[in-house]
Amino acid sequence: MSNGVETREFQAEARQLLQLMVHSIYSNKDVFLRELVSNASDALDKLRLESMVDKELDADTSDLHIAIEVDREKRTLTVRDNGIGMSRDDVVTLIGTIAKSGTAELLRKLRESKDASASQDLIGQFGVGFYATFMVADRVELVTRRAGQAGGTRWESTGEGTYTIEEVDDAPQGTSVTVHLKPEDSEDNLFDYTADWKIREIVKRYSDFIAWPIRMTVERT
Ligand code: ADP
Ligand code: MG
Repeated sequence: MSNGVETREFQAEARQLLQLMVHSIYSNKDVFLRELVSNASDALDKLRLESMVDKELDADTSDLHIAIEVDREKRTLTVRDNGIGMSRDDVVTLIGTIAKSGTAELLRKLRESKDASASQDLIGQFGVGFYATFMVADRVELVTRRAGQAGGTRWESTGEGTYTIEEVDDAPQGTSVTVHLKPEDSEDNLFDYTADWKIREIVKRYSDFIAWPIRMTVERT
């Protein structure tokens, strides 16, 4: 079952922030993984809380965890959680627009900021969240199903102005985000996000405090 693929535009501020990410004015690209793991962890927290408050919620809470999977052949990295997930409307509002307060202010400061390191500081302080994936990806896919709901949603974008969204009927509970890694980063060992050691290093550095299990399926390199 599918209601077809719909193409939509990012809201203006979201588009501007994405442009900055796609053209990587922020050099610490490793943080994309921290952002994905942190979103996955938040989603697991939310599901645990909601299942305690709402005893009727039809959700599986037996094995809550985060999984990181790499396909070296396809050059993809996927971060998966079986947490709260998102409805279609959630995806449109949460991912397609920047609800975050302070975005307009950040964009104004970035335009005024003359030197690169000041811009870096601004972005670092603000935290760009999900959009950080576009520093390392030329395409990002998100598949999600809200806990307690039957149908799922698939979202995809290259970060260049528009995204596509469609219904899917086989999405597992929770969210998976697959980043299709930019080819240029494969040439530089330091930015090889398909390498076991690299992923472990980033997770250790930024996500050591995460309370949920993080399982890795990454070929040894
Ligand atoms: P922030 O985490 O600071 O709110 P993000 O850009 O990282 O900003 O994410 C935007 C929103 O998208 C989140 O607040 C959350 O509602 C939703 N979201 C992102 N990733 C997930 C996920 N894995 N599961 C459920 N919701 C998510
Ligand atoms: Mg976040």
